[in-house]
Amino acid sequence: MPESMWIDGEGQSPAAGRPLIVQDPATAETVAELALPGPRDVDRAVAAAQRAWPGWARTPGPERQRALERMADALAARAQEIGEVLSREQGKPYSEAVKEAEGAAEAFRYYAAECVRPTGYAIPGSKASLRDVTRAEPVGVVAAISPWNYPVLLMAWKVAPALAAGCTVVAKPPPETPLSPLIVGQIASQVLAPGVLNVLVGGPDVGEALVRDPRVRAVTFTGSTATGRRIARLAAESFTRVTLEMGGQCPALVFADADVERAAREIGYRAFRNAGQICNAVNRIFVDRRVADRFVAALGAYADSLRLGPGLSDPEPDLGPMTTAAGLERVRQHVADALAGGARLVTGGQVRSDLPGQRFFAPTVLEVPHVRLRVMQEETFGPVAPVLAMDDMDDAIGEANALPYGLVGYVYTTDLATAVRAGEALEVGTVGVNNVGGGEVYYPYEGYKDSGLGWELGPGSLEPFVHRKHIRLAV
Ligand code: NAD
Repeated sequence: MPESMWIDGEGQSPAAGRPLIVQDPATAETVAELALPGPRDVDRAVAAAQRAWPGWARTPGPERQRALERMADALAARAQEIGEVLSREQGKPYSEAVKEAEGAAEAFRYYAAECVRPTGYAIPGSKASLRDVTRAEPVGVVAAISPWNYPVLLMAWKVAPALAAGCTVVAKPPPETPLSPLIVGQIASQVLAPGVLNVLVGGPDVGEALVRDPRVRAVTFTGSTATGRRIARLAAESFTRVTLEMGGQCPALVFADADVERAAREIGYRAFRNAGQICNAVNRIFVDRRVADRFVAALGAYADSLRLGPGLSDPEPDLGPMTTAAGLERVRQHVADALAGGARLVTGGQVRSDLPGQRFFAPTVLEVPHVRLRVMQEETFGPVAPVLAMDDMDDAIGEANALPYGLVGYVYTTDLATAVRAGEALEVGTVGVNNVGGGEVYYPYEGYKDSGLGWELGPGSLEPFVHRKHIRLAV
């Protein structure tokens, strides 16, 4: 049976593991059968990371830098192979999956450079006889818990900074998409010292065992708000540090002076990409009533232009299937709730029965009468774009801020003052003005309110993984 863990540099399969069948969500074909690790395997993984930690923490910066660059080189060299596996288990189009693997390589390269940056500073002594310096010391073993929507990239965004800071890591990718993250574990076994990066596939039981383990000194998590809240509670018991990147329910505001066709195209892209299974997907669209009809028509046409299909098919599709059956069911329920609540279906609204597997949900545009619908309140995490026409865009900003989420917001306007005012008023960690980009390793990524605790990426993002030690020398 193929390995489901890389511990201490070795691929392993737990003796007593329950079977884990990995299916292609596009076709329901079995891709692989693994043995699922359980809480007992956590002990070995954490022990390996704990043993490796003193050596890795003492490794000089330039040497650590070279090790992370080797990770980057190997990921880039195997990007096509990883992309194929990732597309098959998660469903996204092949070229997007390859880009994801390349993005993981980019993350390791970015954090390789961090290994040789200053980590402390000298502060003038408060007396003539004193010399005061600070030092960043790695906290120890880090647990990295990541979701299935971008299984390779999001894992790299967590693992690479922790390693750069001098921590060793136990990464826990999810059972829905175990195969591509396991390739990262295999690469680590070839280019890093044993135990520095351990990868252990597992579900909530494995995740909780990791968070509860007193040897784990920091947890970095990406996933749903409900799971983040649970992890924060568990971590509080042992004062384990947590960084939480959670759910989105992201608003887009389209002002009357916007380039409406461009806004529709770009917002559509951000709403539907990866079948809407992205934390920064546009989930709620507020449009000035004066341009709402034009916007809805253009968004509907964009949705209809998208080609659906298995990620590895030729020609390549724009969108793949819903990765999980539960996710598909939630999308169905949200759309049914909206229609029962008076929404108008512009396009989509159902599974494409002409495609295999019954997991392809047609990109859906809804005109909604108010915000009291599940699609406007809860994260749908699927290809659904609800549009609400607004008489007053100040009310739109109020609605955007009314939910407990605060990850990303988008603003379309050609007026500079409106862009600045709306961008500053949105209670979110990232704002896109006339673009739906962001989410790159170079820039900080933080959720406000229930979308996050702490931030990752960008300058200063090793901070969750280090202690600040002050050393005072009397001379
Ligand atoms: P999830 O919370 O169910 O799972 C995320 C990870 O946590 C998985 O590895 C899972 O196995 C693990 N897990 C589940 N229960 C656990 C527990 N009790 N203790 C420890 N670990 C546990 O999320 P998901 O459904 O896989 O992912 C989708 C969610 O992730 C969406 O809400 C999305 O918005 C969010 N997300 C956020 C970001 C971000 O950067 N803010 C990025 C991508 C996805």
